[in-house]
Amino acid sequence: MSQNQNRVSSHMTPQEILSIDNKHIWHPYTSANRAIDNLVVHGAKGVYLELEEGKKVIDGMSSWWSTIHGYNVPELNEAIQKQLEKMAHVMFGGITHEPAALLTKKLLEIVPKGLEHIFYSDSGSVAVEVAMKMALQYWYSKDQGNKNRFITVRNGYHGDTWHDMSVCDPVTGMHSIFNNRLSPQIFLPAPQSKFNGPLQEKEIQQMEHVLKERAHEIAAFILEPIVQGAGGMRFYHPEYLKTVKRLCEKHNILLIADEIATGFGRTGKLFACEHSGISPDIMCLGKALTGGYMSFAATLCTTDVAQTISNSSPGVFMHGPTFMGNPLACATAIASLDLLLSKDWKREIQSIEKHLLQSLSPLADLDEISDVRVLGAIGVVEMKEAVDMPKIQQMLLEKGIWLRPFGKLIYTMPPFNITKEELSKLSTGMVSAIREYSKELMIK
Ligand SMILES: *Cc1c(COP(=O)(O)O)cnc(C)c1O
Repeated sequence: MSQNQNRVSSHMTPQEILSIDNKHIWHPYTSANRAIDNLVVHGAKGVYLELEEGKKVIDGMSSWWSTIHGYNVPELNEAIQKQLEKMAHVMFGGITHEPAALLTKKLLEIVPKGLEHIFYSDSGSVAVEVAMKMALQYWYSKDQGNKNRFITVRNGYHGDTWHDMSVCDPVTGMHSIFNNRLSPQIFLPAPQSKFNGPLQEKEIQQMEHVLKERAHEIAAFILEPIVQGAGGMRFYHPEYLKTVKRLCEKHNILLIADEIATGFGRTGKLFACEHSGISPDIMCLGKALTGGYMSFAATLCTTDVAQTISNSSPGVFMHGPTFMGNPLACATAIASLDLLLSKDWKREIQSIEKHLLQSLSPLADLDEISDVRVLGAIGVVEMKEAVDMPKIQQMLLEKGIWLRPFGKLIYTMPPFNITKEELSKLSTGMVSAIREYSKELMIK
């Protein structure tokens, strides 16, 4: 094949891309014979995704919570390019490097107190697997191997790998399709005490009862602090999480905080645990860790967890991914963190929160809508019935907006650096698409 022909193959038309895509490529939670075309994106800059013929749409999803600084960020591009010239990757077994050390130093300065050891891995799901293995190995090391179950709350989401799935909501996580091969875990109801509402004493008592009764078999309590993301976009009371922490201490249960979606400012605090003023024993980070540039994650733990595992046979923690501590990812994460901390991120998020609250709240009057809620840079409109996703997505695209509703939820979590004008375009488009959609429902 001549060079020319090679070059031709890198300029596919959208139709050529879609024909291969439709025939051969899996996408998240899709069928292999789906009828819907995916959106072909050629580039992305700022808060925009660039489509064919110069069209562009605002990404109201931050590519699933991750691109907190938007796309094509000069600071992040530069960090990657500089690191690329030194080394893209090197194994982490027996080898270390400055990007990993520097990232660790910076992370430990900002995470909740008491977290001192970091395990770097390649994705959020793996970070959760690592956290769960740490908890199991902790109790094994203490000769209490009978503490080998996890307790969690319904409506949670912790990733798609095997053990992660066992602690995801049993209904939306569809435990049933896996033929009962998932480890049975203990589920409390989803927290009912709303973020801004009163604390429901009854659910606290129920939690206390279950933890007391079953502490002997529980290794750890795992949950998403304050915001339950993919399992329902629910915001719960800081006192609820505080109680989880207090009861875990009282009953000798480790606490795993899955901050993969909430970490790095999304909820208005750098980490959602700060709403409750608590420190977990183990914490997972991912998604926005690299500013959404690449897949990378971290599992942090206390000295107690690290030392207990390390001081008894086998004396090592049994996990070691090939791409552990990838230097490109570390360098990008450092740049993303520096960029976030160098600006008034709190104010940015507060003004997004205020805008979303003002613009989305009037929707609550529609009969088709059951709730509108906003926390930090997260705006959620919950419908009474599951939405027709392709339909509403098309309506949103016509207004120049990319969102990915699921179930009854139409929600946005824009990049933090979205301008006032872009944010107005996003919220106005979202509101009018939802009104249009609701009107069509009424006519039916
Ligand atoms: C996205 C997510 C995960 C899984 O992360 P992946 O990078 O998709 O594997 C785990 N926990 C929470 C809370 C998440 O939002």
